[in-house]
Amino acid sequence: MSVDLTQQVQALLSRPSKSDFEQIRPVFDLANAPREVVHGLSLTPANLLHSMHCARKEREKAESYRGFNVGAAVMGLRIRPGAFTFVTGHNIKDRPGEAAINIHAEQCALEKARQLDLQAVSMVVVVSETQPDQQSGHEMCTLHPCGLCRSALASNPMIDAETTLIASALPNFRTIELYSLAALRKFHEGSADAQITRFDLPALKMFEPVEATDKPIRIEDDASTNAEEAIWNNTVGAYLTKLRIELLKNSSAQSSLES
Ligand SMILES: [Zn+2]
Repeated sequence: MSVDLTQQVQALLSRPSKSDFEQIRPVFDLANAPREVVHGLSLTPANLLHSMHCARKEREKAESYRGFNVGAAVMGLRIRPGAFTFVTGHNIKDRPGEAAINIHAEQCALEKARQLDLQAVSMVVVVSETQPDQQSGHEMCTLHPCGLCRSALASNPMIDAETTLIASALPNFRTIELYSLAALRKFHEGSADAQITRFDLPALKMFEPVEATDKPIRIEDDASTNAEEAIWNNTVGAYLTKLRIELLKNSSAQSSLES
């Protein structure tokens, strides 16, 4: 293990510095809101695109002996100070051998999220080239969280198997897959009806790397102003809108049952 890698891991395991995350204050106080409401409000097309950009930027820091670089971003609600927070992670993988370091991007981001006391995680985004899944052997169009990460996600109290959205995208963002952890596990267990939704999109301007990621990327609601935005809004955006409506409907159905 090189000195460089040791330093990187030490930095990773220390408390995230301000530059490791950013926050957006929600309009409502969500401290006591049900998970469905938190997710329903935060799973917007703009937040997904922003997370993808954050994950891709973070991927540049990846350190893999075989050049297989992965970036991840996690978005969740941080109760204090009551803000949606984005944290990122990258993989660090040593040549296999004794005491070899092997940290996966998703787990790196989730560890930072834990240190920041994130409550509900709405979204986990993975950006990478793809390769066959080492556990299931499945070939995918985008890189899904691996078998180890699937187990780690399943036992993570911040993640909900049904309502946390997982998104995986190729680095050019033109192929994106969206699914829940439950669907992901079903898919890799060989279930044919696992709900993995794939979008194959043309090259869009909004997919091009942006210099500063310190502000969320804005997408105007008025689709007619820009044909490219219409493509995004009518594909991924429509999927997210449907998902958000279902989440918010479920939460109001539950609260009316409880009252
Ligand atoms: Zn993994």
